[in-house]
Amino acid sequence: EVRVRFAPSPTGFLHLGGLRTALYNFLFSRQRRGVFILRLEDTDQKRLVPGAAEHIEDMLEWAGIPPDESSRRGGDYGPYVQSERLHLYTEAASSLLNTGHAYYCFCSNQRLELLKKEAQRSGHAPRYDNRCRRLQPQQVEQKLAAGVPAVVRFKLHMGTEEFQDLVFGWTGHAVGAVEGDPVILKGDGYPTYHLASVVDDHHMRISHVLRGCEWLISSAKHLQLYRALRWTPPTYAHLPLLLNRDGSKLSKRQGDIFLQSFRDRGVLPETLLDLVTHAGSGFSDNRMGRRLDELIRDFNISKITTHSALLDLDKLEEFSRLHLQRRIEDPQQCVWLCEELKQMVKHTHSSEISAAAVLEPEYIERVLQLRKGHISSLQDLLSSTHSYLWVRPRVSQTQLQSESAHAKDIATAVMQMVLAGGSLVSMERLNSELKQISSRTNSTHSSVMKVLRLLLSAQQRGPSVAEMMLSLGEQEVCVRLQKALE
Ligand code: GLU
Repeated sequence: EVRVRFAPSPTGFLHLGGLRTALYNFLFSRQRRGVFILRLEDTDQKRLVPGAAEHIEDMLEWAGIPPDESSRRGGDYGPYVQSERLHLYTEAASSLLNTGHAYYCFCSNQRLELLKKEAQRSGHAPRYDNRCRRLQPQQVEQKLAAGVPAVVRFKLHMGTEEFQDLVFGWTGHAVGAVEGDPVILKGDGYPTYHLASVVDDHHMRISHVLRGCEWLISSAKHLQLYRALRWTPPTYAHLPLLLNRDGSKLSKRQGDIFLQSFRDRGVLPETLLDLVTHAGSGFSDNRMGRRLDELIRDFNISKITTHSALLDLDKLEEFSRLHLQRRIEDPQQCVWLCEELKQMVKHTHSSEISAAAVLEPEYIERVLQLRKGHISSLQDLLSSTHSYLWVRPRVSQTQLQSESAHAKDIATAVMQMVLAGGSLVSMERLNSELKQISSRTNSTHSSVMKVLRLLLSAQQRGPSVAEMMLSLGEQEVCVRLQKALE
């Protein structure tokens, strides 16, 4: 059975990098009828951010990729929070101590600091010198009995640890030659990441570990732990880094990469899923506009390449327009959008709303159908360029006169045209009828358009005059044109 996990530390809120890791795990699990697990790695108690754990799961749900097993959802392999599994790590650490794969280390912080400083001075990377490996059992007993603070360290092997990574292929790291023995159990009884991750992946029966490639080198350590514990390791797939378009680190711009901030701005979750997968690899083509079911269908882990994925946030608008359009074209979702927009309009424009008809579903849906492809969020429809949709413009006679001396004639002619019926049926028909107004009123086409735009919206820019007329409908168009004759 395929079982994968997303294992964030609740030390901050979910951003696009985390979303991508979670999503690839989700896609992989869905393709193979597997199980997607959310595990919270909260062993670094000092760095916990209150609310982050809840928030991460909320965001996965919002994004449409909820876990099958988690502390909220339950499951047979819980608890799904590391701080509630401490006995399992202690048990594994004791077994490693018993088999001679781990040892107690009593080195004081002072000594460790000194080692660091020495390394710095000689230009080396800091590295523990494994001194406590050489303590005699008797010495260990004595120190433990005397209550000298201790941590447990794992004995790293010197040789190269080689393994087949689904993304990076055949890889090897001689981790023992570079690093000192890592702490696996801290003085406070909490495990470090390496031990906790291995113990949990084993007990939770994780079959594939898909995680960021910043963990690639750690895998060597993890494989040694698996061997020492006589457990079978999972298959690894390390995902290439997700970077800003200019190659800088994503976290440097964290303010605007948090999921919550996109959600607050009205960005649709499917837009973000498409954006983060589009940035990277894993698909045979690079097209835009995939929704979750299509991502599941098209994802191919063997197509993930090792070079970094570049995230282009400048494309967010384009992705947003595309996905909003798809929602508008989906009858069921369109109904929800209409309701949402109605509430937003009521909230923003309340007392100024031009007519009750504006809040009718038919009106709102017509607006959406005409504006799709042009707007990237429902909020766009509340901007000043779109206020004509909801609120009658205030136009003074002076403004009108300065626009054209024929303003009244133009308004009359267009009203007649509209009332004769048949002109508001399509954009083409309306445009061709509008063209005839200029000759009938001794005006240029552009001045006809300017007068109409002024009367309908009091704005200089915005959708075409024909589109405004189609959205507003016969009655409202006439009410607004009538103003010219007062
Ligand atoms: N807790 C680690 C993180 O925050 C998880 C790494 C892993 O997936 O093994 O990225």
